[in-house]
Amino acid sequence: MTLYPKLILEALAHVRYPGTGKDIVSSGMVNDDIRIDGNKVSFSLVFDKANDPFAKSLVKAAEQAILHYVGSEVEIVGNIAINYRKVVEMPVKPLPQVKKIIAVSSAKGGVGKSTVSANLAVALTQLGYKVGLLDADIFGPSIPKMFDIEEARPFAIKKEGRHLMMPIEKYGIKILSIGFFIDPDKALIWRGGMASNAIKQLVTDVDWGELDYFVVDLPPGTSDIHLTLVQQLEFDGAIVVSTPQQVALADARKGIQMFSTDKIDVPILGLVENMAWFTPAELPENRYYIFGKEGCKQLAEEMNVELLAQIPIVESICESGDAGAPIAMNKNSIVGNAFVQLADKVIKKLNTKN
Ligand code: ADP
Repeated sequence: MTLYPKLILEALAHVRYPGTGKDIVSSGMVNDDIRIDGNKVSFSLVFDKANDPFAKSLVKAAEQAILHYVGSEVEIVGNIAINYRKVVEMPVKPLPQVKKIIAVSSAKGGVGKSTVSANLAVALTQLGYKVGLLDADIFGPSIPKMFDIEEARPFAIKKEGRHLMMPIEKYGIKILSIGFFIDPDKALIWRGGMASNAIKQLVTDVDWGELDYFVVDLPPGTSDIHLTLVQQLEFDGAIVVSTPQQVALADARKGIQMFSTDKIDVPILGLVENMAWFTPAELPENRYYIFGKEGCKQLAEEMNVELLAQIPIVESICESGDAGAPIAMNKNSIVGNAFVQLADKVIKKLNTKN
């Protein structure tokens, strides 16, 4: 988020000085020296008296107003004085060298979220971009298998006094999976905080280097883990994957709503309908709508989001996933091409939205 003084003033205008009942901005109690330096904001409050009885509580209220309306972590530096100066520290962008962070989510497991993440990452690489892929699906980390790196073990390096993990590189993509570090059977008993902290470390304590696109394969669902992650990672956009089946669609709707709440406000790039139909290899013109027809199209219209792609059920998707070489590696195949087009749309949406 780009900060500017007006945002801070708007937040502070919600604070009233108890002595008069008027808001502190229109009563001239906020000095006009608001300064913004990256994520740091400083401003001063002016009180008539050096020992104004409301000074302390007013500063606290101002702090909370910024937290509430701008969304920040506040650290107070200095003393309360007539010209009170405080420094508001906004959370630092977790990955300054990463241009765009994309969340791939689904409300249900098994709908093809990891398949879409893996193939999107491959397709973006094929378009010439620097790509990172984080498998954050604590309940079923399948990216190592899809890239045939199950045996890989990331090592740590020391950089600028910090220990950072190095991602594994495969097909030109920098990859890490929570599966390298946890036993998925135990993930089910993790408390939400533990899971989101572990995932956050895989973002912040890793030498991801410069990336154009960072694809994060989220755990399925819309639980507290998601809320925390989505708030902490500052995604530039989210893709929701679903099958056209009615029960899956009901959950996908919740997924879209989660990203759109005021608290989260991550732009939805669109829906990907996976397993949209089945086409047997011997009858390429035939489409069998096993899970129902155009369910995601209707949901997309209803929720006013774009249907980014429809991926059919194809044996080679499953086979290539199991063989460690995602199907998008073959961009001339029909499905491979569908993923390249998906990547293309995602890029366009990210660059017009922000
Ligand atoms: P999720 O990440 O949502 O749990 P996965 O991407 O791991 O789902 O997919 C579950 C299984 O379904 C995998 O074995 C995968 O290869 C297979 N699969 C996913 N999409 C397709 C598809 N369009 N056609 C055929 N198999 C698919």
